[in-house]
Amino acid sequence: MPDITHQRCHNHRQREAVARCPECGRFFCRECITEHADKVICAACLRGMVEPSGKTSNRFQGVLQLGHFLLGILILYILFYYLAQILLALPSDFHEGTLWQTGWWTGS
Ligand SMILES: [Zn+2]
Ligand SMILES: [Zn+2]
Repeated sequence: MPDITHQRCHNHRQREAVARCPECGRFFCRECITEHADKVICAACLRGMVEPSGKTSNRFQGVLQLGHFLLGILILYILFYYLAQILLALPSDFHEGTLWQTGWWTGS
C-alpha cells in the first residue's frame, strides 16, 4: 500500500489525500470522498453506483411507454372497429341502390 500522506487529491492538486477510492484507485481529499454502504468512495464512483437505480426508473418509464403503446393500439382497434361497422353499413345502401332509387332530383 503506497504512503497516502504523499498523495494529492485527484480533484484538488494542492490538497493532501485522506483516502483512496477502492473503485477507481485514485486518491481524494476529505471533501471529495464520501461514505457509501460502509465503503469510502469518491463522488464519481458514487454516481456510477447510483446509476443502476436510475436505470430502474427508466425501466419503469419503459413500462409506462408500453402502456401508452397498448392504449394507442386499443384506440386504433376501436377506431377500426367503428370504421368497419360504417364500411359494412355503407355498401348495402350502395349495392341496393337505394340512394339512386329515391330519385330526389326527379321529384317522384
Ligand atoms: Zn472512485
Ligand atoms: Zn478534493
